[in-house]
Amino acid sequence: MIGAAGAGKSMLAARLPSILPPLSPSELLEISMIASVAGQINGGALTSKRPFRTPHHSASMAALTGGGMRAKPGEISLAHHGVLFLDELPEFDARVLDSLRQPLENGEVSVSRANHRLTYPARFMLVAAMNPCRCGHAYEPGYSCKRGRVDRCSADYQARLSGPLLDRIDLRIEVPAVTAADLILPPPAEGSREVAARVAAARDIQLKRYAALGLPHIRTNSEAPASVLEEIATLDTQGSTLLREAADSMRLSARGYHRVLRVARTLADLDGADKIGRVHLAEALSYRMLAEDLQRAA
Ligand SMILES: [Zn+2]
Repeated sequence: MIGAAGAGKSMLAARLPSILPPLSPSELLEISMIASVAGQINGGALTSKRPFRTPHHSASMAALTGGGMRAKPGEISLAHHGVLFLDELPEFDARVLDSLRQPLENGEVSVSRANHRLTYPARFMLVAAMNPCRCGHAYEPGYSCKRGRVDRCSADYQARLSGPLLDRIDLRIEVPAVTAADLILPPPAEGSREVAARVAAARDIQLKRYAALGLPHIRTNSEAPASVLEEIATLDTQGSTLLREAADSMRLSARGYHRVLRVARTLADLDGADKIGRVHLAEALSYRMLAEDLQRAA
């Protein structure tokens, strides 16, 4: 999420667990084991809430990915089956952000100590927020940056994020500042409960899909290996053309290409559609667009 300070990015992120399905018993067990190893079960009480972890940008590598004297699980493992929210993403240490790449691919993290190596689960949903520029107001009309030209201020700031990390972020959205006029609009027709029902239905479709393919350990499209994507995310001729042209013009990596297909599959699932339509593919591509534009500008 990219948007001015005070636009409500943190509030949006904090609501995300409220639209995710309730924890399954096996998920609850895994989460509890990690919390126990980390010494974070207070008074023996387990919580059935999905984790929502918000490490500060000054967090060390050990705090984030695990390690230290007793090789404890880090924030990314404590966020297992939940949400890891990194506010002010460009302020994090570049090496620390780099260490997220592998867990984002395979859902686990290796922690090395003097003479042994531990692996902790770390299948988290990464949500990150940033201001458009260092002074935080670059997208506001009529604003001039403290650090010179608006476009340079935002390009410098956004260039702090590495291409490989951005490549692993599927949905990139601008969060515009809330105006006084927004406050007098009627409340939205859908609340968290209605959205959660749509999410649960889409998750259910995915569970059944992978069980039918003989892959019961896979629960979501994001976990599906690239090898089954051809089978579950087939495109019609129009769709193939659209994706091929977009891949060229956006210079999508192979990973980016597969990620677009996964997002399109999920959008089709949310619609209850068997086949991925052009509209699903176009929406998936639009979520990837923002940062491609940003990188080119930088
Ligand atoms: Zn600025």
